[in-house]
Amino acid sequence: MLRNDQLDQWDRENFFHPSTHLAQHARGEAHSRIIETGSGVHIEDRDGNRLLDAFAGLYCVNVGYGRQEIAEAIAEQARKLAYYHAYVGHGTEASITLSKMILDRAPDNMSKVYFGLGGSDANETNIKLVWYYNNILGRPEKKKIISRWRGYHGSGLMTGSLTGLELFHKKFDLPFDNVLHTEAPYYFRRPDLAMSEADFVSHCVAELEAMIEREGADTIAAFIGEPAMGTGGLVPPPKGYWQAIQPVLKKHDILLIADEVVTGFGRLGSMFGSEHYGIEADIITIAKGLTSAYAPLSGSIVSNKVWDVLMKGTDETGPIGHGWTYSAHPIGAAAAIANLKLVDELNLVENAGVVGSHFTSAMRDALGDHPNVGEIRGEGLLMAVEFVEDRETRRFFDPSKKIGPTIAGELLKNGVIARAMPQGDIIGFAPPLCLTGDEAQQIVDAMTKSVESVL
Ligand code: PLP
Repeated sequence: MLRNDQLDQWDRENFFHPSTHLAQHARGEAHSRIIETGSGVHIEDRDGNRLLDAFAGLYCVNVGYGRQEIAEAIAEQARKLAYYHAYVGHGTEASITLSKMILDRAPDNMSKVYFGLGGSDANETNIKLVWYYNNILGRPEKKKIISRWRGYHGSGLMTGSLTGLELFHKKFDLPFDNVLHTEAPYYFRRPDLAMSEADFVSHCVAELEAMIEREGADTIAAFIGEPAMGTGGLVPPPKGYWQAIQPVLKKHDILLIADEVVTGFGRLGSMFGSEHYGIEADIITIAKGLTSAYAPLSGSIVSNKVWDVLMKGTDETGPIGHGWTYSAHPIGAAAAIANLKLVDELNLVENAGVVGSHFTSAMRDALGDHPNVGEIRGEGLLMAVEFVEDRETRRFFDPSKKIGPTIAGELLKNGVIARAMPQGDIIGFAPPLCLTGDEAQQIVDAMTKSVESVL
């Protein structure tokens, strides 16, 4: 086994890490974190620290770490057939079985699943499908995509544009012109504190309608949104948001893409966020919870309405010119099958709802009255604590104080991994869906101790 100092040196000399302060890392200002093993909700690093991972990696290890059933399924598939492509109608038992398992769980109006590798490429696929759809329908001008400020849809060229967070645009010449950002459904950050939740929903709808009016409905192809926002701050929508938005989209013949990369397969306590909030999407993006990150795999689930036009398109112009070498990779598919079986056997969707609501109440009991806690919000096992300098006026801390990252650093010292979200002083929790009530309480206790030591 390599020595830690050797690995640390090679890491700094050779490894270009994503979403990292490259200069600080290369200079060795922060020690490399080398993760060695995982079991249940815990991971262990090279220094022997056992940490409760209350963010499930990047909210993806939904069934928890160390599941031997999935490891075995991957090994068996690798021994039998590690790879064959899915072009021109090829498949494997694993990829075909998985497509049926996904459709069995998806909303009734869904028709087929296209497989990719991760959430970003799945959303790139979705936008291409939406453009293809409108070209086949003879509406070449109908191409702009509306997303929301603070939405997160990936880091590709188009998906980085759809993402509504400044960090992902800065110095990359994004967003593209054909992407429009509308109001985030973030009631805590409403423009006027006097607005009721219903007023704020009307405000979001009015913003959307004004945008459609200004741009022209005949130039807008689709609206993309996460049922409950993730990276933008872990924000469940205000009551009635999706019920108010959908008729506007329908009226203007704008397709709805539900980005369920985080919410798909149980995180909110329902199999899909679409089901949870009554969203009738035309396309659903899935990734993370599909395999619980045991192997990379994503999907674009398309509705009957979209599929009919795609079929018409290939009748008119020949095979669809879109494919990845690793679409429907058999190892990813085998991992997903074993993962979805576990989700069912362990009742993890229900557990996310039950333990999630206990977790949020316990956090509110512990920190709800703290003078710097602005809001504790959650749905299932997606929860956030947002900090403010002044509760009454909802004045935020100056970002240079780095309150969020400092609290996350304290939490780590107290044995819990949570995520300081990229915009605002928000600590996000999205633990594996197998979290127990006792483990939820451990997180709450560690958070209370950490907050007390910082504020
Ligand atoms: N969509 C959502 C809602 C996400 O949260 C993410 C990643 O966090 C993505 C898309 C991008 O997925 P990936 O990082 O697998 O490309």
